[in-house]
Amino acid sequence: NKITIAIDGFSSTGKSTIAKQLAKKLEYIYVDTGAMYRAVTLFALRKGHIDAENFSVNDLVADLDAINLTFKYNDSLGFAEMYLNGENVEKEIRTLHISEYVSKVAAIPEVRYQLVKQQQKMGKDKGIVMDGRDIGTVVFPDAELKLFMTASPEKRAMRRYKELIDKGDKVAYEDVLRNVQSRDYIDSHREDSPLRQAEDAVALDNSDMGLKEQFERILNLANR
Ligand code: C5P
Repeated sequence: NKITIAIDGFSSTGKSTIAKQLAKKLEYIYVDTGAMYRAVTLFALRKGHIDAENFSVNDLVADLDAINLTFKYNDSLGFAEMYLNGENVEKEIRTLHISEYVSKVAAIPEVRYQLVKQQQKMGKDKGIVMDGRDIGTVVFPDAELKLFMTASPEKRAMRRYKELIDKGDKVAYEDVLRNVQSRDYIDSHREDSPLRQAEDAVALDNSDMGLKEQFERILNLANR
């Protein structure tokens, strides 16, 4: 019996790592909704709708129909990569530069409306693991299993910092920490579907929990 699994939580709590493992084990589809918000942000930056000085919500909203988002499964990676208008943008959307704008883009109601619609379509058949900020509250309020992941900002920033450095993005830990905290704030204070724990979600604080232990626990929940 396949189910829908919604994983929400703060930035860099290891949601996608857990979600990928879970999808692999259960032979489910995995959808990273953060990648979609990141791809829209990349589009807006490239088009000049937003930059360090200006942030034109109207220009971006007027251009939303020109954005086509698709996921293509990569066999050797074992997960689906993000494509923006046919171009693989998987690497480009993971930089700190994109992270610095994405939460402001994700706070635009028209952007959320479009992406939520697409996400609901992707999940109309059960057997899906989706991670994000509003999956258990807005996208799939009826999901059979909802997880809400947290960890201290410092732990999360350190994990993200190491990831970025490994990928060759030359960043400072302080900037990553500041970004994590600023996204936490914007994500949980925006007017349209702010980040919050669904009432029926299982909360997991993984500040001091290893990935393996955590994965076993979640797998048990999924198999109940
Ligand atoms: O998951 P990730 O950190 O890649 O998400 C990037 C940003 O996209 C988040 O900080 C948040 O602003 C936004 N987001 C969202 N709703 C989702 C997924 C991501 O608002 N479902």
